[in-house]
Amino acid sequence: MSSTVTTRFAPSPTGTLHVGNIRTALHNWLLAKKSGGRFLLRIDDTDGARSREEHVEAIRDDLAWLGLHPEREERQSARFAIYEAAFETLVAAGRLYRCYETAQELELKRKVLLGRGLPPIYDRSALTLSETDHAAKAAAGEAPHWRFLLDHDAPIKWVDGIRGPQHFDPRQMSDPVVRRADGSWLYMLPSVIDDIAMGVTDVLRGEDHVSNTATQVQMFIALGAPVPRFAHEALLTGAEGKLSKRLGSLGVAELRESGIEPEALIALLARLGTSDPVDADLEADALAASFDLGRFGRAPARFDDAELARVNAAVIHRLPFAHVRVRLPEGMGEAAWEAIRPNLSKVAEAADWWRVVTGPVAAPAFDAETRAYLDQAAVAAATLDWDIDPWSALTAALKDATGRKGKALFLPLRQALTGMDHGPDMKALLPLIGKDEAVRRLG
Ligand code: GLU
Repeated sequence: MSSTVTTRFAPSPTGTLHVGNIRTALHNWLLAKKSGGRFLLRIDDTDGARSREEHVEAIRDDLAWLGLHPEREERQSARFAIYEAAFETLVAAGRLYRCYETAQELELKRKVLLGRGLPPIYDRSALTLSETDHAAKAAAGEAPHWRFLLDHDAPIKWVDGIRGPQHFDPRQMSDPVVRRADGSWLYMLPSVIDDIAMGVTDVLRGEDHVSNTATQVQMFIALGAPVPRFAHEALLTGAEGKLSKRLGSLGVAELRESGIEPEALIALLARLGTSDPVDADLEADALAASFDLGRFGRAPARFDDAELARVNAAVIHRLPFAHVRVRLPEGMGEAAWEAIRPNLSKVAEAADWWRVVTGPVAAPAFDAETRAYLDQAAVAAATLDWDIDPWSALTAALKDATGRKGKALFLPLRQALTGMDHGPDMKALLPLIGKDEAVRRLG
């Protein structure tokens, strides 16, 4: 095994990436990054019928948007010759064998075993077939599917990076089918062949793969390769238990359209499942430095979109102008971004606040007394030196002149100037509105 930490994210392009996949991709990226290693993208597209090119493109775009740049991209569909060679090796070594049972026959066997209170393990009856039997099957046009022969005398063990020591008894497991009768591959063996060929040192994936790992450990050994480190993460659930349809199906594109920043997803998903606090101030490099599989628990991690919204707002409140410039309305500059940013939960809302700056704004109907106060404010504003902090100067002057304070002093001004009861700091907003416009709105 090469000593450079090498991880891979291996999606099947049969759909778009959702939050759970993003988390797996991110954790593999962080794990590699932490050690100055390599992060690979492997497109698991052996299933030609279900794999779609548009999904491959979406996966690439999503990873790019998240800033998770793979060092290399590999596609399983381009590697069939390599699988064939490894297949021949395993056949020659007697580790793959031909079977002919139909799905119905297998189901019947399962039922019989379960009925007797026995585990539904494949009985290996195909191993008793002779070459004459195989020839007869072939003559009858029956093509075999292939199973991997587990070594019953080699107990399976690994120390999982998250789950700790794992033990499996191969006698309690069915020999997995690795290739269908039509010659197509199931996921299991090509993945091992690729992990070996690509020097993958760390396989980090969801705990739904634990039992696959048990058989794959023997495949690495059968192919004469070192077994990589494995870690299996608890699955993601929603705030109320199971990951809801909505959350579970939230694709990167939808998250992006709903105003979620990649930095927010990264800050949240890097820590979700650990007891470490989610910190919106940490950038990817810092998250990588502190990334530690040992911090992840075995309990399902809860994904909560309210938490994502909170982290998203915190991220936006620190985003520099240069980062968002192209997404801001024409004319909105750095000072405006900095004034408005603390009020945003999505960058797109900046346009609403920018309209408040550029006007026109619709102020509420004021009573006579407030109207008189605002007229006085308009006169004061017109005579102000606008260059240094006009808001402090204006409110100080009005406080002296009218004796108003607190809400009575500030709120009518805000309402007349912005048409709103709340919003960005007036101290930052007023210079952006400008003197003439401010005088007009007050008067
Ligand atoms: N294509 C497999 C999946 O999406 C990859 C699993 C693995 O990481 O090995 O589940």
